[in-house]
Amino acid sequence: MALRLFNTYSREVEEFTPLDAAGRTVKLYTCGPTVYGFAHIGNFRTFIFEDLLQRHLEARGYKVDRVMNLTDVDDKTIRNSREQGKALDEFTAPFKKAFFEDLHVLRIKPARAFPEATAPEYIARMVSMIETLVERDYAYQADDRSVYYRINRFPEYGHLAHLDLETLRPTGRIQNDEYEKESVGDFALWKAWDEADGDVGWPSPWGRGRPGWHIECSAMAGAILGDELDIHCGGEDNIFPHHEAEIAQTEAVTGKKFVRYWMHCKHLMVDGQKMSKSLKNFYTLRDVLAKGYTGREVRLALLRVNYGLPLNFTFEGMADARAQLQRIDTWVARLTDHAAGATQGEAHPLADHERFEEALDKDLNISGALGVLFTTITESNSALDKNQLTPAHARRLLEWWGRVNQTLVIEPDAGADEVPDEVKALLAQRAQARTDKEWKLSDELRDQIAALGWAVKDTKDGQKLTRV
Ligand code: AMP
Ligand code: ZN
Repeated sequence: MALRLFNTYSREVEEFTPLDAAGRTVKLYTCGPTVYGFAHIGNFRTFIFEDLLQRHLEARGYKVDRVMNLTDVDDKTIRNSREQGKALDEFTAPFKKAFFEDLHVLRIKPARAFPEATAPEYIARMVSMIETLVERDYAYQADDRSVYYRINRFPEYGHLAHLDLETLRPTGRIQNDEYEKESVGDFALWKAWDEADGDVGWPSPWGRGRPGWHIECSAMAGAILGDELDIHCGGEDNIFPHHEAEIAQTEAVTGKKFVRYWMHCKHLMVDGQKMSKSLKNFYTLRDVLAKGYTGREVRLALLRVNYGLPLNFTFEGMADARAQLQRIDTWVARLTDHAAGATQGEAHPLADHERFEEALDKDLNISGALGVLFTTITESNSALDKNQLTPAHARRLLEWWGRVNQTLVIEPDAGADEVPDEVKALLAQRAQARTDKEWKLSDELRDQIAALGWAVKDTKDGQKLTRV
């Protein structure tokens, strides 16, 4: 079955075919974080959706060439660095480092390139793109010395967001900071330096200034992936104006269709509102880890709802993800025990990998794919209970799980099995409690162990511990 994806541009689910049909390489550009603070878990919902997309494409035999930029110059990075009295790069450096640490904790595959907007080669490319736009009349320098994109010159402007250009026309009072523009919708390509910028600025044919956010992505995507991309992703708030502007800029320069498939992740919400820094209703990954959750628990909690649906963040949701992982771990442990001794797998109808991948082929229907996983767990557990699975079947099911986990990446961390002393001590107390038939105490100790992220199970060989 073919892979089908929802394209924001057409508002339809379309069959995916890459530009490079023979080589099967997929060029994927994903808008990265603005590094003026720690990324919040809403940002990571989008980045985990992109990771799922990449891994599923790989499971389907594509080679994904992915780029994720870092926005390290914009109004917010400048404002906050100035507030802290730091140079821009000194201010953003720790947040860049933290971002890479967080990607690792969430098991997000690193992109091939993580270009930074302030790198001299990209600034040069931004300036040269703007020069071309000015030459071709797509851009003009206004009285405030900034350079703007003339949206009326690009008839497709508004198509991605399905916006009527008329709605962008001024309706009476024109805001103060927009009076220099020809049309309110015209967006800045180059922002003329002003005092609030401090020592941030680059020379250009239009005077000292800095790039607008949209041209940054157009320049970095073009520099690394070329004029035409297969897929471009971001969160839904990127659709307008950011991605609309990217199309207008790039296509006016290259004359080619910039992106074949636009994909956008719906927001992570808190009490019905978008999780965002400006609303101050956000959790960073670090906040959630500090409450005792692990990276894989956060990953599953953010991954398991289809990207096209909003997801409300709650700690009940986190507990639920933890319980699902426990169920998977217990099942894997049971299969591993049962498969011991079987040197080869033997086919079994439950170990049919296609069903999992086929669910994902339907516009990354992760809840369907997880449904396949959990049904497989229920059915194979019941087959084990009835003695209907041979060790060789169990081995094949473990191989099946191995493939599934290449896409989900939710197995316990290698090395996470080092049992901390605190857990060992509780385990020893619990063994004693059980010898003494102190069942209530035994249950309490199990809960204490669970609170530390470990699941204990009683088997005929004694207590067994697995990482949650
Ligand atoms: P930013 O750091 O604001 O540039 O955002 C980085 C990425 O996170 C962009 O793709 C945004 O669209 C996305 N994003 C921001 N807030 C949320 C949210 N609450 N839920 C999902 N994605 C988000
Ligand atoms: Zn971008």
